[in-house]
Amino acid sequence: MSGQRPEPVVADQDAVRTAELSARLDGLLARIDTAVAAAGRPAGSVRLLPVTKFFPAADVDILYRLGRREFGESREQEASAKVDQLAYDDIEWHMIGRLQRNKARAVARWAHTVHSVDSERLANALDRAAQDALAAGERTAPLRVLLQVSLDDDPGRGGVAPADLPALADLVAKAPGLDLAGLMAIPPLDAATDASFANLATLHTSLLAQHADATELSAGMSGDLEVAVEHGSTCVRVGTALMGARPITSA
Ligand SMILES: *Cc1c(COP(=O)(O)O)cnc(C)c1O
Repeated sequence: MSGQRPEPVVADQDAVRTAELSARLDGLLARIDTAVAAAGRPAGSVRLLPVTKFFPAADVDILYRLGRREFGESREQEASAKVDQLAYDDIEWHMIGRLQRNKARAVARWAHTVHSVDSERLANALDRAAQDALAAGERTAPLRVLLQVSLDDDPGRGGVAPADLPALADLVAKAPGLDLAGLMAIPPLDAATDASFANLATLHTSLLAQHADATELSAGMSGDLEVAVEHGSTCVRVGTALMGARPITSA
């Protein structure tokens, strides 16, 4: 038949994924609004951080075109690759995963915020790396840091013990390359989520008494964001509910 052209396969896939992500994003933003209202908190007081780990740069690009400007990644190499593929200069990249000191230098080049600082050694490494990146013109502002606090006694899952939190906060607050922004936590799998987030809120209140600018509370994921919002979260990190199931379960 005349006038028929081949299907634009790539563009169609992009359109399908765009429609899917757009619908999920709308639903998720409505879900967050509902949680904020149910908690009696002011509209707009909780930010969505889309977590794009394990998903391609093309998905980040779609979310960018849907208006998102902040993205969370959990592995340095995967994040660096995406940062290189996306040329936008107004994306704020968040490192949310466990971080080894030998990755500090790389992370300081692309991360706007690190959510997972849980030791003085890591904080010192990031401070040096951020100062060097500032001096080299690789970044224009200090690295925002959230302290990841452990809500159980399992050091294997990451997070500073609550008893060590004040000293770590003081160190980060004094570090010229870092900006102490708040707290982050991942509730233990086996504990009551409500009690864990209540505990986190108490720790945040204590932190604020010493560091009034550390207002950020990064808490809540796909499965528990309502509970986190009830307990003062200012930033929910959502992967699965937006992107779909990850090919591998966690990182
Ligand atoms: C993967 C990840 C998330 C997102 O989890 P979902 O349950 O997929 O929403 C949030 N926070 C951290 C630290 C993560 O590694």
